[in-house]
Amino acid sequence: MTSGPREPRETRFAARAYNRGVEPPSVAIASAAIPARIHADREARTVAIEWRDGHATLYDAADLRWLCPCAYCRGEAGLPGWLDSAPTLTAEQTRLVDIALVGQYAVAPTWGDGHHTGYYTFRLLRDRCPCESCRTARASAHPAPTGSRHDEHAPSKEDR
Ligand SMILES: [Zn+2]
Ligand SMILES: [Zn+2]
Repeated sequence: MTSGPREPRETRFAARAYNRGVEPPSVAIASAAIPARIHADREARTVAIEWRDGHATLYDAADLRWLCPCAYCRGEAGLPGWLDSAPTLTAEQTRLVDIALVGQYAVAPTWGDGHHTGYYTFRLLRDRCPCESCRTARASAHPAPTGSRHDEHAPSKEDR
C-alpha cells in the first residue's frame, strides 16, 4: 500500500539571492534601476521612488538639489561647478516645483529658483539612494585595498 500525497509546492527564493553585493554592477544596477513609481511631495519636500525590484528610496528635496548632475552645478572640462563651491542654498533653491520624466532614463526636477537643467538618471538616483542598506552596501563595495599587494619586482628564478 502506497499512500502519501506528494507536496507539489516548490518554494524557490532564487530571486532573493541576488542581493549579495558581489553582482556585476553594470548588469544588476541596470535592471534594478527602473522606477515603478516616482512621487514628489512638495509639502513634505521629498521625492519617493519605488523601484521595480521592490526597493524604496526617499530623497529629501534639499539632498536631491545637492546631487544635481548638470554642468553648471557639477562643473565641466575639469572646472569646478557651482555646488563644488559649497554655496548656502536658499529655501527657493531647494524647493521642488516640478519633476518631469526625461525619456525612459531620467527625471528633471524644476527648483524654486528656476533651475531645471539637471537630468537625474535612474541609475544616479539608485546609486545614491540614502537608505541605510544602500549606504552599507556602498561602504562594503569599496573595500580598502589591503592584503592585495602584488610584487612588482618578483625575482625571476628561471634565468636562461
Ligand atoms: Zn544643476
Ligand atoms: Zn536604498
